[in-house]
Amino acid sequence: MPNSHPAELAELLRRCQVAAALTGAGISVESGIPSFRGVHGLWTRYNPMEYAHIQAFLDNPAKVWGMLRELDELIRQARPNPAHHALATLEKMSKLKGIITQNVDNLHQAAGSKNVIEFHGNARRFVCLRCRRQIDPATLDFSQTPLYCSCGGLIKPDIVFFGEEIPPAANRAAFDLAEACDLMLVIGTSAAVMPANFLPKAAKNHGAVIVEINLEPTELTRRFTDYFLEGSASQILSETVALLK
Ligand code: NAD
Repeated sequence: MPNSHPAELAELLRRCQVAAALTGAGISVESGIPSFRGVHGLWTRYNPMEYAHIQAFLDNPAKVWGMLRELDELIRQARPNPAHHALATLEKMSKLKGIITQNVDNLHQAAGSKNVIEFHGNARRFVCLRCRRQIDPATLDFSQTPLYCSCGGLIKPDIVFFGEEIPPAANRAAFDLAEACDLMLVIGTSAAVMPANFLPKAAKNHGAVIVEINLEPTELTRRFTDYFLEGSASQILSETVALLK
C-alpha cells in the first residue's frame, strides 16, 4: 500500500462527518512508556502474557505488584506528547468526535481530550477486589506491595488484565462510536489484542474509511486500511493539525 501524507489526512478530516480515533501503546512511546512490541524497557523484563494476566495477579500478587509498581512510576512521570495534544486540538476544533484508547496511562485526558473511552481502564485508579471500593492513590503506600484494602481485600489498578472482560459501558460506547463514525484513525496499535482489534473492522463494516498511523504495517494494514501514514504519531498528527488550522 502506498504511503499517505498529512495533507491527505487533513483533507479527509475536512470532508468527513464523524471522525473517531482508536489509540494504542505506540502513541505513548514518545512520552516514555514502552509499548509491548518495543524491544526496550519494562516488557523485556516482564513478559506481558505472564505478568498482565489476571490469574497471575491472583496467584501471586506480590510478584505482579513488582511490575505494577514500576509501571505506576513510569505512568506518573509521563507527560502527554504532541500526538496526544494534536488529538485534543482536533476535538476542540470539532474535527474529532472521540477517542477509544487501549492505553491505561491517562495521557489523552491530561492533554485535554474530553470524550475518551477507556477500553482497558485507567492505571491511575485503584479498586478493591473484595468490597469493589475505589481507592484514592494518594492514600496508598507503594513501597508496601501487594496493597490491601481496609476490608482485607486485594487492591488492583483499575485496568483490564488479559483474561478479564472489557468494562461493559466502555465496550458499548466504543462499538457505538466505531459504528457511527465515517473516518477512523487507528494510531500506534499493533491491532493484535482482541476485542479492541474488532473496532476498526466494525467501523469498516459500517462504511468508515480507515486511516492508520504507525511506524510499520500491522495486521490491519493489508485487509482493512484505506490510507496508511508511516511514521511517528506525534510528527504526523502535529503536521495534520497545522494544515487544518
Ligand atoms: P502494541 O505494543 O502491541 O503495539 C504498539 C504499536 O505502536 C506497534 O504497532 C508500533 O509499531 C507502534 N508504534 C510505536 N511507536 C510509535 C510511534 N511513535 N508512532 C506511531 N506508532 C508507533 O500496543 P497495543 O496494540 O496498544 O496493544 C498492547 C496492549 O497493552 C494494549 O492493551 C495497550 O493498551 C496495553 N499497553 C498500554 C500502555 C499504555 O497505557 N501506555 C503501554 C503498554 C501496553
